[in-house]
Amino acid sequence: SRPDADSVLDGLDPEQRQVATTLDGPVCVLAGAGTGKTRAITHRIAYGVHSGAYVPNRVLAVTFTARAAGEMRTRLRDLGVAGVQARTFHAAALRQLQFFWPQSIGGTLPNLVEHKAPLVADACNRLRIQADRARIRDLSAEVEWTKVMLVDPDDYVRVATAAGRGEPGGLDLPTVARLVRTYEDVKTDRAVIDFEDVLLLTAGILDERPDVAATVREQYRHFVVDEYQDVSPLQQRLLDLWLGGRQDLCVVGDASQTIYSFAGATPEHLLDFPRRHPGATVVRLVRDYRSTPEVVGLANSVLSLATGLHARARLELIAQRPSGPPPSFTAYDDDVAEATGVAARIAAEVRAGRSAKDIAVLFRTNGQSQALESALADAGVGYVVRGGERFFSRKEVRDAIVLLRGQARSALPGHDLGTETRAVLSAAGWGEKAPTAGGATRERWESLQALVVLADELAQKRPGSTLADLVEELVERSQAQHAPTVDGVTLASFHAAKGLEWDVVFLVGVSEGLLPISFAETPEDVEEERRLLYVGITRAREGIHLSWANSRTPGGRATRKPSRFLDPIRPQAAPAGRRGGAAAPKPAKSTGPMTCRVCGAPLTAAVDRKLRRHADCPASYDEAVFERLREWRSATCRAAEVPAYVVFTDAT
Ligand code: ATP
Ligand code: MG
Repeated sequence: SRPDADSVLDGLDPEQRQVATTLDGPVCVLAGAGTGKTRAITHRIAYGVHSGAYVPNRVLAVTFTARAAGEMRTRLRDLGVAGVQARTFHAAALRQLQFFWPQSIGGTLPNLVEHKAPLVADACNRLRIQADRARIRDLSAEVEWTKVMLVDPDDYVRVATAAGRGEPGGLDLPTVARLVRTYEDVKTDRAVIDFEDVLLLTAGILDERPDVAATVREQYRHFVVDEYQDVSPLQQRLLDLWLGGRQDLCVVGDASQTIYSFAGATPEHLLDFPRRHPGATVVRLVRDYRSTPEVVGLANSVLSLATGLHARARLELIAQRPSGPPPSFTAYDDDVAEATGVAARIAAEVRAGRSAKDIAVLFRTNGQSQALESALADAGVGYVVRGGERFFSRKEVRDAIVLLRGQARSALPGHDLGTETRAVLSAAGWGEKAPTAGGATRERWESLQALVVLADELAQKRPGSTLADLVEELVERSQAQHAPTVDGVTLASFHAAKGLEWDVVFLVGVSEGLLPISFAETPEDVEEERRLLYVGITRAREGIHLSWANSRTPGGRATRKPSRFLDPIRPQAAPAGRRGGAAAPKPAKSTGPMTCRVCGAPLTAAVDRKLRRHADCPASYDEAVFERLREWRSATCRAAEVPAYVVFTDAT
């Protein structure tokens, strides 16, 4: 029996109710972190369905990460709604492309390659451009940029000049323009498509084939977009084509949380929404339901010095929750001491009865996770690396996905998914019992166990799920690089933590050089770093701990200063007169030697500013960015190896 539609509105405040009951678009929700944006749109969908206004499978809810999409599906199920499509842009487009490719283009969809480097290398070869790894990496990044920004190759020189792209890969812009064109030829010759092509091709088909566009628009009537502040021009174009001039759109976002500018994100779409959609219902939410007044106060003061477009749209948050513990600020001697200190505090929380899964440690660069991982292991605290590049790069996981996919074709429906997955894995020689050996064997077994846990979770959440559903979920997660959840402390980058919340959050490495990151040179870059800190702080429900290390290695020179973003905060928090306490660090560029964040070796001249930017941006949802990170590591650091080439579409 369906719950009464009005009961869906219980537990919403008047403004959230307005969002939930304004079932006709355009609707735009502008609101800060923790104000219940995601909750409001989820309840809006549920209200639409329960009141009979929406047919569930005609609703397309677009979110930014596979995890957010999964979470929205769960929240909807809890509200008694099944059948709504909640997906990432990429996953939604890929499904449509696979479906419409045969009738609009003919044949089967070309393989999707996740790595541009081999294609760029080939393009360089054809143009007789000398290309070392660093140049290939830079050019791959530039190719991606032109695609997410929808830059026509013929227009590239003008646009890139205006955007201050410099000399990508050390080449002049006309040469890069030729490279961008040749890259497309290489893909055509090899019959492959890349990550951005999934969106570009879907948009192209919708644009050129009125019959396909009509079918898609008939299927999807109501559109909802979460985290709209991070939409890229390419994603916006696809959204416009899905809508086809209709207004059944509800977007929610917070300009102060734009943290994907490097991937083409711009809050202009959000801020411009009321102008682009005359008559739009614009709702502002200011009550913060997530965090204590202490956390909210900290978040507000971090943003108090923000400048630029994002800052102008800022809304002060008003805390709703009762008072909690004050934020803590701790300076440690070095990275190891910081990791150990944080692990000890976490262990104490867990001993005091706090569940490990309600705690997170967030950092700016993925390289920072290693020290924390070992400190937590030493302290006997379980952890899970969220958005880490590791899980889906593991050979056994890739192999298992291929195996499960093969099996999905022949599997009989009805079987229990968890049982079936165990059977498939054990038939391949991966037993259910933990191996007695430690090391690599054990690790391999543990990653496969995580797949089994995921299968069980899926079977429980969505009874009747099949192996094909599991494979789809895995592919979605692998594209988003989200490993299945296990019970433990979450280790995540600031980027990967977007939209999520925990009781207690530790922000580590809040120092100059890490936050803002050393390569943030322009004022805009620095502002984005400030927003990252805001995103990090607002993940906490009650406990917020900020820390930094004075030097990188034990016994190293004291080279790091606390982040300039703490200036408006620390004078009240730290005892006055404490050394370094209230001194404002100069907003100058970091001039220290550039070292590899994995092995600490000095970086060669081939590693330039832009490369470091991409190398360090833990854009967890974007495989392409991760690939650059891995390549960068392998090129500059002896400690890492190049991952194998991964193809996620069917080779048949
Ligand atoms: P972010 O910008 O970080 O994505 P958000 O605006 O999407 O945040 P939600 O995640 O929807 O915020 O909500 C934050 C928390 O507040 C959640 O735990 C949610 O359940 C709770 N919450 C939201 N609205 C209410 C409400 N009216 N009453 C009680 N709790 C609420
Ligand atoms: Mg949200």
